[in-house]
Parts: sequence; C-alpha cells; structure tokens
Amino acid sequence: MSAVQYHIDLELAHGAHNYHPIPAVITRASGCYMWDVDGKQYFDFLSGYSAVNQGHCHPRIIETLKEQSTQLTLTSRAFYNDKLGEYARFITGLFGYDKLLPMNTGAEAVETGIKLARRWGYAVKGIAENQARIVVCSDNFHGRTSSIISFSTDPSSFAGFGPYMPGFDIIPYNDSEALDQALANPDVAGFLFEPIQGEAGIIIPDDGYLTAVRQLCTAHNVLMIADEIQTGLCRTGKMLCCDHEHVRPDIVLLGKALSGGTLPVSAVLADDVVMLNIHPGEHGSTFGGSPLACAVATAALEVLLDERLAENADLMGKRLRNGLERINSQFIRQIRGKGLMTAIEIEHEDPEAAWRLCELMKERGLLAKPTHGDKIRLAPPLVINAGQIDESLDIIEESLNALKNAFEALKAPAFS
Ligand code: PLP
Repeated sequence: MSAVQYHIDLELAHGAHNYHPIPAVITRASGCYMWDVDGKQYFDFLSGYSAVNQGHCHPRIIETLKEQSTQLTLTSRAFYNDKLGEYARFITGLFGYDKLLPMNTGAEAVETGIKLARRWGYAVKGIAENQARIVVCSDNFHGRTSSIISFSTDPSSFAGFGPYMPGFDIIPYNDSEALDQALANPDVAGFLFEPIQGEAGIIIPDDGYLTAVRQLCTAHNVLMIADEIQTGLCRTGKMLCCDHEHVRPDIVLLGKALSGGTLPVSAVLADDVVMLNIHPGEHGSTFGGSPLACAVATAALEVLLDERLAENADLMGKRLRNGLERINSQFIRQIRGKGLMTAIEIEHEDPEAAWRLCELMKERGLLAKPTHGDKIRLAPPLVINAGQIDESLDIIEESLNALKNAFEALKAPAFS
C-alpha cells in the first residue's frame, strides 16, 4: 500500500468524517510550498483557509514559538503574564481601538462579537432584556458553533443541528436598502458581516457597500461588526478589507493568520464604550491571551508589516487575475477577487468539474479546493513572488487543457 493511501485510510478509519479532503497527504511545508509523504512538491493555493498568510513555517514566527514555549506557555487569566499587556498595546495601537479581547478560534471571536453587541445593546442602547437582535447576511460563513449555524443559510451547515438560537435577522448581502430597513428596528444591536464573503465563493460587494454599511450603522445606532477573520491581515491587499473604503467598524474580528498558522489565535477589537460592558467573570477562555499566543501573534503581525505583505498581495493578486484572464478556457465562467483572495467559477454541466480540475492541478503540483461545488478559491500565501505566480498560472492552464481532453475523451464514441 502507498504511504498516501495508508494515511488516508487511517484517518478515515479513526477520524470523524466531517471533511472531504483532496487526497494529498502533506508532511512538510515552507513559504508557499508543501510536500507530501512521497516527496512531491505543491504550491499551496489554500493557505490553511488563509491562516498561513505569512507563508508556512515562517522562520521569525517559528523562532518566537520555540523561544516562548521554553519560557512560559499558559498561565490562564487567573494570573497576569508578562506578554498579554504588551501584545494588547501593540495590536490596539496597530488597528486603532481602545481594547483587545483575546480568544482562540475564529468562531469564538464571532461569539464574542455577538455577546459584546448584545451586552452593549442592553447596557448602552437601552434594548429591553432578551430582545436584542443581530442582523446578518444570507450566504454568510462565520464558523460552526450552535449559535453561529443558527443564522446560516447553508443547509450543509445548519440542517439537522436544531433547535436554533433566536435573535438573528437575515438579509441579502450587498443590499444597503435591505440593511436600512432591518436596522430601523430599535431592538437591533449589531450588524455582523464579512467584507468579502469567503466561503460563499469570494463574493465581493459593490464599491461603496462598506461605506454604506458604516453610514447606516451610525444612523441607526447599531454596532458594525466586521468579520475580518478571512479577509483581514493583508489577504485582500490591505491590512483589513474595510481599509479599502477607509471604513472603521465598531467591532473587528480577527483570527486565522493572527498566528501565521501555528496556533488557534483570534482577537476582538473594540472601543471602551463597547468592550467595558463585559466585566470580570462574564466571558473568557482558558487559552485566550496565553503568553504563547501573545508572543506568536505579535511576531505574526510584525511579519505582515515588515515584509509589506499587503502590497505584495495586491500586486501578486493582480498578476494572478491578469494571467487567468489571458487563459482561454471554456470552463472559466468568471474570475473575481481582491488581493490574493481570488475565485474562478467553473462552467460545466458536470457538477464535479471543479473537483476534477482540482485533482488535475494536484497532479501537476498545485493544491486548491472547490467551495460550494463550482467555485475554486485561489489563495496562496502572501509571500508568493511573480515567478511563482507565473508557474502556478502554467499549471492552471495545463490543468484546464487536461480537463478539456478528459471531457472530450468521455464524449468520443468507443471503438468496437
Ligand atoms: N469567520 C470567517 C469569515 C471564516 O472564514 C471562518 C472560517 O473559515 C470563521 C469565521 C471561523 O473560524 P474558525 O474555523 O477558526 O472557527
């Protein structure tokens, strides 16, 4: 049995079947490359769902991880540690907020954002007890907890997991009129949204939407809660995606690349008027704000700044999309993206066409995965350079040609 098959079978036999991976078994990674157990090299075009923006095993982040892990990893928040304060000062200074609330996963940051908005709604806006509502968008993806899936519109996220948490109003994405109407309800405390919908297939709102969201939230006295867990930290060519329209949310949610892909580290940023409504003992997490997480997150943010990864994401993203536009393939219905967050939508009657294309790209040394059937996200680490983008484009083009040949072979009459 091959090493690849051995590991796949082992995982299937003993692990829950809650994912459907592309069959590559990775053992090592560096920068924008990964290697499988047979030594085959791949471009990573998923970046751990945008958690490794700084590139795999970034030396500076790994050095910090190693150093801090021999010094102090966890105190819990029952005691102070000598890393959290400095990290909190650094990250709040960088993003321009009064306070940080540190958590671990993205979903926990979202949960924290919801709790903060509800608490602010009662304590500051004066909403009657248990009446606070949060407005969200259809086709959202904010994580997998029971509350978060309660306002998902994707049956694969919510179906069969009820009963669902009440208090959420779902409106269409990129629709400021619907938002204006929804926010007019005085019980609304917050509007939770993604500046670009990542899991839905890189859905980019119209120019001006973020500005409209800001204006409407202000006009209706509702907190603007930007889930920048996937779009943030330079992925779209700016530190935050909201920076494209110079818009400042009331609550920013960060995760994924906040640790450069080493640990689950997430963060909630807000001003005192929001954050100080949560008092000691009312919210927290054993690992949130651990010295290890704080040291690693500081290094991860410094790498983004020092290596100017927002600028590189912008430049390389444009190069990637220009190259894709030049590829003449009947299978490409649409190419869209911002920075290094790009999607191609695949046009074919076979619903498996996008999956097949990913398999063909894998054979040629590039790993990507379809989302929602016909969309393929192309999101390499932000350290990728021009030569590597061009090589990747060659692989994508060759794979599209191979897909054409494969479908034609299926159609050709068999010799008798
Ligand atoms: N929010 C957004 C926009 C995401 O893309 C994700 C994960 O993909 C999450 C939240 C949840 O993050 P996590 O998987 O770390 O809980």
